[in-house]
Amino acid sequence: MEVYEGKAKKVIPLDGNKAIMEFKDDATAFNGEKKAQFGGKGTLNAKISAHLFKLLEGKGIKTHFIGIAGDNRLIVEKLDMYPLEVVVRNVVAGSLKKRLPLGEGTELPEPIVELYYKDDALGDPMINHHHAKILGVSPEELDEMERIALSVNEVLREYFNERGIILVDFKLEFGKNARGEIVLADEISPDTCRFWDAETKESLDKDVFRFEKGDLVSAYEELYRRLAG
Ligand code: ADP
Ligand code: UDP
Repeated sequence: MEVYEGKAKKVIPLDGNKAIMEFKDDATAFNGEKKAQFGGKGTLNAKISAHLFKLLEGKGIKTHFIGIAGDNRLIVEKLDMYPLEVVVRNVVAGSLKKRLPLGEGTELPEPIVELYYKDDALGDPMINHHHAKILGVSPEELDEMERIALSVNEVLREYFNERGIILVDFKLEFGKNARGEIVLADEISPDTCRFWDAETKESLDKDVFRFEKGDLVSAYEELYRRLAG
């Protein structure tokens, strides 16, 4: 595997089954149409992801997290990634408003899981189990990813709730390790989740950048303070 430079992170393979995941200060939104850089974002996202991966590991959920390798770098298990984004939603926001006749902020009666095909050229389309099968992901693998995604939701929702934060929705990615196990990968950060202050409903996530709601780094710092502080 070569060094991979994506929109928000760099993956640098190491010997064996490990890689360094470097979090960049770059932010993109709306399929890369909107771009900016925020000094300190990479470090905050690395710290927040590390904190949440440790929390999940403690609850028995297998993740790629191995350790911290500097301010904005994690050591992770190198995986063969599924080309999927698994989104879990608890509250209506973002693109769900285009699918259901429910307004922003409506609490869902139960969590919804959605699948998207990770493909920039196609604009990451939403897909179902049939499409996934054609992409080489078996129904059993998908069931396992959905099951893990819902467990992650249960753990994170409660953890954030105790800290005065609503976990609105989030995106996960999975990969397969050398032993053939499905492992939670990528990042769990304000770039990939929606977090609302429970009192004020203010965003503490990338919506601050998407919709010009204030200072992104202050919002991410506040989130990290409440998480780990
Ligand atoms: P993008 O590729 O969408 O621009 P990023 O900038 O976040 O996204 O790049 C990170 C890349 O690393 C993604 O393609 C993601 O699927 C991949 N990735 C995440 N975790 C691992 C892992 N443990 N092993 C190998 N690749 C990973
Ligand atoms: N998300 C992500 N990467 C993507 C698309 C979505 O991390 O490529 C996250 C997003 O931050 C939100 C959730 O997945 O927490 C649901 O996003 P949605 O479908 O509402 O799309 P958006 O409003 O981000 O376009």
